[in-house]
Amino acid sequence: MTQRLVVAEYIWLDGVKPTQGLRSKTRVFPVGAEDEVSLSNFPRWSFDGSSTAQAEGGDSDLLLEPVRMCPNPTSVDEGYLVLCEVLNPDATPHATNKRAELRRTLDAGAAALEPWFGFEQEYTLLSEGRPLGFPAEGYPAPQGPYYCGVGAGKAFGRDLVDAHFTACLEAGLMVYGLNAEVMPGQWEFQIGYRGLEGESADPLTASDQLWLARWLLCRLGEDEGVTVSLATKPVKGDWNGAGMHTNFSTKGMRASGGIKDIEAAAKAMEKKHAEHIAVYGANNEERLTGQHETCSINEFRYGVADRGASIRIPRHVSNNGCGYLEDRRPGANANPYDLCVRILKTVANLD
Ligand code: ADP
Ligand code: MN
Ligand code: MN
Ligand code: MN
Repeated sequence: MTQRLVVAEYIWLDGVKPTQGLRSKTRVFPVGAEDEVSLSNFPRWSFDGSSTAQAEGGDSDLLLEPVRMCPNPTSVDEGYLVLCEVLNPDATPHATNKRAELRRTLDAGAAALEPWFGFEQEYTLLSEGRPLGFPAEGYPAPQGPYYCGVGAGKAFGRDLVDAHFTACLEAGLMVYGLNAEVMPGQWEFQIGYRGLEGESADPLTASDQLWLARWLLCRLGEDEGVTVSLATKPVKGDWNGAGMHTNFSTKGMRASGGIKDIEAAAKAMEKKHAEHIAVYGANNEERLTGQHETCSINEFRYGVADRGASIRIPRHVSNNGCGYLEDRRPGANANPYDLCVRILKTVANLD
């Protein structure tokens, strides 16, 4: 045999408003028997855009352009996850293809800043429509013991959470850590910058990997009948919402004396607060109330170690005089491509 078959899961973002969702489909491809598989093994493919809110039925074929791949730890055979950009039939980026906009923003000058991102993806695990740990009637005991909690009655869904973390590591994704969150059934994983030599948390890599990690989480949830919700406020009332704190640095911020650049970036973001909020996730106003470790959506504040601020400068960053900032405003359902575009346009002054 001179060839073998590998299994590819093509993954892309649909056009559903207000929050784009994940879609994927599977196909086998022949590769050389001894070949190390790379992106070039995976050709363009098409899909029915009329079923994903991306095209009309009369002219429905859109293109999938492979842009990032990794091993698929959920495949029983040799499998790969193949993240794709969506293109029009003439091969121009589709209007819903926000990754293309991020590429353009980087080319327009943002790449020169050498930006790095680290996302803290919060999410809520649901079964039968309610968060794990919530009884069929009424509510669990008030928040307090659940954040970073351990033990039955405090942590709910650990098997899935751990399986996901292992799968991300097997896939070679840049996961940084994880923790149980403040509300029962709510968890967080971090992905992006983690200080490993030779690894780049540039905006495209970090954002692509976040989408791949989201796909793995949803896929593994299927095995247990558990739904992954990225809703910003899954339970109304005195229960924490779910966000996606976005940690960001430039070469200047990371260098000695970089605190000046961090403060300049925070001031630039203050002027563009409304433009940022516009792409920081649907229903984020339900989460950014000024309660539950958030700053009101109607205000902008930045400060050292302030978890009630819009932008937090970590204490250790302030002490060192350089490092990164944390934008605490994005909701769990934000699209990282949109987020990166907005932050980079503001900080690189590209509007
Ligand atoms: P928190 O205290 O806000 O919960 P976490 O421990 O959850 O913080 O996450 C820290 C985040 O900071 C990670 O996502 C990591 O990738 C990110 N981070 C650390 N250093 C940098 C840096 N220099 N540039 C960008 N992101 C960074
Ligand atoms: Mn965190
Ligand atoms: Mn958190
Ligand atoms: Mn945080």
